[in-house]
Amino acid sequence: MSEDNEFAPDVCVVGAGPAGLLAALLLGRRGRRVTVVERRPDPGGAAPAAGGSVMVQPVTLGLLEQAGLLGAASAGAGRLLGAQAYFGGRLAGRYRYEELADCPVPYALSLRPGALIDGMLAELAELPDVRMVWGAEVEELGGPRGGTRSLTVRTPAGSREYHPAYLLAADGRNSAVRELAGIAAEVTASGGAYLDAGVPIPPDWDELTRAHFGSHGYLLETRRGEDGLVIVWITDAATAAGVLDGPVEGLVKVWSDVVPRLGPWLAQHITDWDQVRRVQHHSVRAETWTSGNVVLLGDSAHGMHAFAGQGMNTSLQDAVCLAEAVDDALNGHGPHGLDEFERVRRPYIESLQALQATNTPASAAQAAPERERAPEFEVLALGQPDIRPLLARAMANQPRSGGHTNH
Ligand SMILES: Cc1cc2nc3c(=O)[nH]c(=O)nc-3n(C[C@H](O)[C@H](O)[C@H](O)COP(=O)(O)OP(=O)(O)OC[C@H]3O[C@@H](n4cnc5c(N)ncnc54)[C@H](O)[C@@H]3O)c2cc1C
Repeated sequence: MSEDNEFAPDVCVVGAGPAGLLAALLLGRRGRRVTVVERRPDPGGAAPAAGGSVMVQPVTLGLLEQAGLLGAASAGAGRLLGAQAYFGGRLAGRYRYEELADCPVPYALSLRPGALIDGMLAELAELPDVRMVWGAEVEELGGPRGGTRSLTVRTPAGSREYHPAYLLAADGRNSAVRELAGIAAEVTASGGAYLDAGVPIPPDWDELTRAHFGSHGYLLETRRGEDGLVIVWITDAATAAGVLDGPVEGLVKVWSDVVPRLGPWLAQHITDWDQVRRVQHHSVRAETWTSGNVVLLGDSAHGMHAFAGQGMNTSLQDAVCLAEAVDDALNGHGPHGLDEFERVRRPYIESLQALQATNTPASAAQAAPERERAPEFEVLALGQPDIRPLLARAMANQPRSGGHTNH
């Protein structure tokens, strides 16, 4: 990018998390001049929100494969071949990805976000018109609310002011850009409790996720990366408090009662509260996802609870659709694609957040029946039905290497 263009790129992306980097990559490959600003001091900085591992579904893996990122995403990742759902201890459904029609890959991955991000950064480094600015903290937005906004960031080398045609806010659930743009958002703390603990993979484990819905709440047995198993327990706050007050053996007993098969293994490997992680989740509902030239992407638009593992999946899918819509707008077709994306996407996201809320009540008395709490396997695996054509079109229009398309 020439010096002249440095401060007036086509697109500024705030946030080098998975969503921001994928959008930057897809726009950069279309020949767009993109500047990514990130508060982390360097590419090796802290991993994004989920830390250890995230479960990424076949629909999203298919997008990563088409973007040439599946190899990077697979480094240190572990495969999952399907899932079983249990209601009150009884098997209620069994599913395998290979049995789904049009499943892009016959597995999900428990992957390390850091590996995916490293792969995206390596691809971005190949694009001459994409610039990364590390150690950059959002300071202010100039211009009228709802109009064309400029962005000022503070960097170790001083303040910089950018005048992008579009400003993508991929700066996570507490998005500073969203706030400075004057976009109101409800950020709601989950009323329930989330605890997880990792153990080694037991001998003879069959690579199936098992989701147990019952009076205990929700207990998930799934993979953590290549060689770990993780137990996730989502329950009401009062039930969790009763267990958290006692020794860790009490937690192991609750989990073993739900999954007796794993009882001895859990007792052998979970012996200290330090091995148990507690996470306070939040959901975000922004009043609009586009305001003037500011577009919210990923968690900044719709951060969500980890129940059903959809935060990163939906964020990466958003990045694909929004890169296409922004490119279209830059081609002079107006913001129609951005509005259309929100119209199609928002109802699905809000119903997912509502489902998550039914699984994370403040008290057991508010818990819904098991059948009403389970997500649909096929929709998680293949994505929101209405978004599938948008994803297919966006990836079909994607050039293999740099260069404009459809201009
Ligand atoms: C415990 C846990 C488990 C999860 N499991 C799953 C799962 O299994 N599957 C799944 O799909 N999702 C999962 N998620 C959700 C997933 O991690 C997030 O949805 C995803 O990381 C969102 O990506 P993002 O790029 O939108 O935001 P983020 O990953 O939050 O990235 C935002 C980036 O913006 C930067 N930034 C923030 N503020 C500023 C600023 N002011 N200036 C400059 N830069 C800034 C941050 O440093 C960061 O790099 C889980 C989350 C948690 C907490």
